[in-house]
Amino acid sequence: EVEDDLPPLTEELLDLAEWMSKQYLCPWITAIHAMIPAVLKGKTERWVVAAAELTAELAGQSPLLHELLRRGAVAYREVEQQFPDEIPLLPGWLSAGWLTTEYHVKDRVTHKQASYVTLLLTDEEALAKADSLPKQAEQMRRVLLHLAPFSGQPIAAKELGELLGVSRPTLKNLAAKGWIRLEQMEVLRNPYAHRKFADAKHSYTAQQQTVLKPIAQAIEQGGFASFLLHGVTGSGKTEVYLAAIEQTLAKGKEAIFLVPEISLTPQMVERVKGRFGNLVAVLHSGLSQGERYDEWRRIIRQQVKVVVGARSAIFAPLRNLGLIVIDEEHENSYKQEETPRYHAREVALWRARQNHGVLIMGSATPSLETYALATRGRYQLLTMNERVGNRPLPQVHVVDMREELLKQNRSMFSQTLYQMIEQRLQNGEQIVLFLNRRGFSTFVMCRSCGYTLTCVHCDISLTYHRTNHTARCHYCGYTIKQPDHCPECQSSHIRFFGTGTQKVEEELSRLFPGIRVIRMDVDTTSRKGAHEELLDRFRRGQGDVLLGTQMIAKGLDFPRVTLVGVIAADTSLHLPDFRAAEKTFQLLTQVGGRAGRHELRGDVVIQTYTPEHYSIRHATKHDYLSFYEEEMLNRKRTGYPPYYRLVLISFSHEQLPVLIQGAQTVADYLKARLQPSTILLGPVASPIPRIKDRFRFQLMLKYRDEPKLIDMLGQMNRHFDEWLKQQQLLMNVDIDPQML
Ligand code: ADP
Ligand code: ZN
Ligand code: ZN
Repeated sequence: EVEDDLPPLTEELLDLAEWMSKQYLCPWITAIHAMIPAVLKGKTERWVVAAAELTAELAGQSPLLHELLRRGAVAYREVEQQFPDEIPLLPGWLSAGWLTTEYHVKDRVTHKQASYVTLLLTDEEALAKADSLPKQAEQMRRVLLHLAPFSGQPIAAKELGELLGVSRPTLKNLAAKGWIRLEQMEVLRNPYAHRKFADAKHSYTAQQQTVLKPIAQAIEQGGFASFLLHGVTGSGKTEVYLAAIEQTLAKGKEAIFLVPEISLTPQMVERVKGRFGNLVAVLHSGLSQGERYDEWRRIIRQQVKVVVGARSAIFAPLRNLGLIVIDEEHENSYKQEETPRYHAREVALWRARQNHGVLIMGSATPSLETYALATRGRYQLLTMNERVGNRPLPQVHVVDMREELLKQNRSMFSQTLYQMIEQRLQNGEQIVLFLNRRGFSTFVMCRSCGYTLTCVHCDISLTYHRTNHTARCHYCGYTIKQPDHCPECQSSHIRFFGTGTQKVEEELSRLFPGIRVIRMDVDTTSRKGAHEELLDRFRRGQGDVLLGTQMIAKGLDFPRVTLVGVIAADTSLHLPDFRAAEKTFQLLTQVGGRAGRHELRGDVVIQTYTPEHYSIRHATKHDYLSFYEEEMLNRKRTGYPPYYRLVLISFSHEQLPVLIQGAQTVADYLKARLQPSTILLGPVASPIPRIKDRFRFQLMLKYRDEPKLIDMLGQMNRHFDEWLKQQQLLMNVDIDPQML
């Protein structure tokens, strides 16, 4: 069924989908699905429909036929449930021509409608009619006078009602006279309709001018160009992006602006909308499906010049793309962790090349892969190493928590952090407290026997949720009530462990009675709009402390924040991930960047059990380059990206022997074909060996120079396709995996 008069995909996007299916070894259709709004993927549903040949006499033979004749059509789903015995008879009836089957779109999107009023008279005619109306037709007169200047233009009836206090019958009367047309028309849902956005434009700093020069030149010339903008936090990167977008629009072209997860950075939307107003479409997961669909349709209808959004906004169907900006280029969320397993950075490169456009990737802590390419000239490297207005980077204090223990301080706050919080509270300044929750959770353990609550379907411990006193599996959702006694030894000493945000909040209230804490975590932000609400409250000064996890690390800019505390910096260091040090460095740098961005000087306190670790040492000094060099040596020594590229092939099956046998078969196939320089690791059990009752194994390929590898993996997929289905074995290929 035709949903809209405009095709949802451009030729460029169709080509892109084809490229993706080769590059990421995914079916073409999954790449296309990644490009269009969820509502358009419209699941189809099969219906059985009565044909002209079906007579009452024939229908008398069967309950299903009887039902069909009565209702005209029945969903196949319903046939399965209510008339299962008659399903074998369907083919015969089909060929006899008594019925047909049809497919209909299920859960079809509704385009939102509203009443509109259009004046059918000229300006003068309307005024004359208004004059000629009898005295008691006051409402009609008001409508005519109001509409006179807008002859021929549809005006929302609701607006008229609110503005003039006219009722529905009045409009109907006017329509009956043939003076106005009253009709239902589509309105596009606009999530930002009732918000006003301000824009403050600055004269550029010297460093902004320096980096803008080559960017402006590239935009002016047209033709593909790519930049890495490495700028410390608060150096004014966003201003540079906005300037580049402005210039692109002036050239009559369009821009995509990617941010990690936009609902997490409402301030960014604010700034772009403030600058470009209605020319901006915003796409992110915080909008309702209908809102997202309508924003997307504004793009399709070419009513939009700038698209701001998270990962999938890279597929915005702009037809005259001149610029792509990727803010916080190093962020994990640019990689999709399900099929198609694409990286928005690579897709952006493809689209920029295809459109002869400009790509700007920006970060205070670029990924090693990107920075390495920039040093080799693949991207032009632009650097801004000073904050706007020469504001000093915050002073970083590293606290060794082992010494706190020696001082008999068992609190989660060191003396240093405690004193600084106290001082801020006295001065009426604000504090951001950051809890590094990566690889860390509040698990439930018995203190008597060490028994830990784990999921019955997944090999992973359950996470404690205080709000409803339950323990839940974050992979499959399995939930149990927190037990009062240990299921193993019956002891009552079964408690949750780990430093959750809730626990920090409690500790804060105990140490600083009356302190106002705004807590931001999965629990407090699950409701739509809750995230923005909490940030707004903090901005308005209704909280002393903003306490949160990863989600407060980036993009936030609050003038009165002068202290940032990191409760436990180490937790992300000990993950079984070769990027653990890089992620820790990035996180600490980003968090530190939240302090002292305005007139007030900032301090950062990092609490750690391993102050000597290089990622902590270099983050303390805001020294990206030293970190980069040291980490590159490690990657070279251990054979990880950017020196080697990785492919992760993972398998899952309900039975372990089938799984191991299957993974081994694929490994043997690859061994016989790979170049000797390519390393094949495994098969081994995956880091989480079982999820949702399926066991998991994996193979890892490390390669440097194997140009035909992707083709070969494509052949492997085709070679094993049938066999995998027979074995009911799932195999997944992840090119350049982010999460191991
Ligand atoms: P980054 O993205 O590099 O962290 P921002 O673009 O957010 O930095 O800039 C930091 C702060 O400085 C923001 O409040 C911004 O409005 C302000 N700012 C940016 N450029 C200028 C400028 N040229 N003059 C004055 N203030 C600026
Ligand atoms: Zn026990
Ligand atoms: Zn589970």
